[in-house]
Amino acid sequence: MSSAARVHFPSGSTFHTDLKSRVQAYFDSTGREPHGGWAIRVKTAILAAWLMGSYALALFADVGPVLTGLLTVSIGLAMAGIGFSVMHDANHGSYAKSPRLNRLMGFSIDVLGASSHVWRQKHNILHHTYTNIAGLDTDLEASSMLRLAPSQEQRRFHRFQHLYIWILYAVFPLKWWFLDDSRELASGRIASHSFPPARGWALASALGGKVLFVTWAFVVPLLLHPTWKLLPLWLLGVGTLGVVTSVVFQLAHCVSLAQFPEANAGGQMQAGWAEHQVATTVDFARRSRLLSWYLGGLNFQIEHHLFPRICHVHYPAVSAIVQKTCGDYGVVYSAEPTLWSALASNLRWLRQMGRGPALRLQR
Ligand SMILES: [Zn+2]
Repeated sequence: MSSAARVHFPSGSTFHTDLKSRVQAYFDSTGREPHGGWAIRVKTAILAAWLMGSYALALFADVGPVLTGLLTVSIGLAMAGIGFSVMHDANHGSYAKSPRLNRLMGFSIDVLGASSHVWRQKHNILHHTYTNIAGLDTDLEASSMLRLAPSQEQRRFHRFQHLYIWILYAVFPLKWWFLDDSRELASGRIASHSFPPARGWALASALGGKVLFVTWAFVVPLLLHPTWKLLPLWLLGVGTLGVVTSVVFQLAHCVSLAQFPEANAGGQMQAGWAEHQVATTVDFARRSRLLSWYLGGLNFQIEHHLFPRICHVHYPAVSAIVQKTCGDYGVVYSAEPTLWSALASNLRWLRQMGRGPALRLQR
């Protein structure tokens, strides 16, 4: 497998240059700023109130097991919503103009259990630069139980992956919070990739975030309720969070319309970086205002991958420019019309990878 340092994209893409100028012209002509502005601050307040309200009611209101279960699902959905709409933009630097505010809001992922320091290495660098390149994009390497890319080794049990993947989704936050983060923070390595170790403030905030998270999610409930009552609720909350976040990230890249290009023996990719991002990413349900709000623009992932430093509140407008520019340059732009068609495409891809041919032709 190629290492990140040896993989290169051809430079000088006129498509990318023209696309950037057209998007810049949009911001110049409308007078808008590429960060989130008041819209994302209002959204943050709504999501925070949703999470805190659900948490307080689940802990302190004696509403019976069914309603407490629904409140726990609500906590999982609110946590995922903050991940999609606040921490994701903030850790890309697109939440606000101020780097300090971005860093502060980026810390929300630490409060919700995972290290922002590790996330920025994994997501901003490895996933965003080397999207859908097996061995480099860590999203494809989540588990050896899964075969998500054509060049990954096919094993007999993969033929059932579209069935057992739901269990992996449901428990993956636990693995992420307590195993992966600890190992990666301690070793300074994510799989075979090394990254700057967390030291000083970065290490203190990573550890402080874990303490905060364990306190609100586990210690406080244990002080108020018996363990036997909490265990099924924790599983329900973690399962909701895990399934929702995993599915949303899968729908953009692990679907029939997405490509999985590979570097040649010299580490050279065939397409330019921007063309690569469009080829490996698929939008979905772009007309759904409710989904677009909740998913923080993760249904506009082509736009996000091309412009990660533009806040998601602008993606519906930017998507029209991206789609038109792709048309002008003959770059294939892929979008599933609905959430359900995207889910069906993801399941088709998982089944194909589980039992299909080892390699797939590039378009
Ligand atoms: Zn991102």
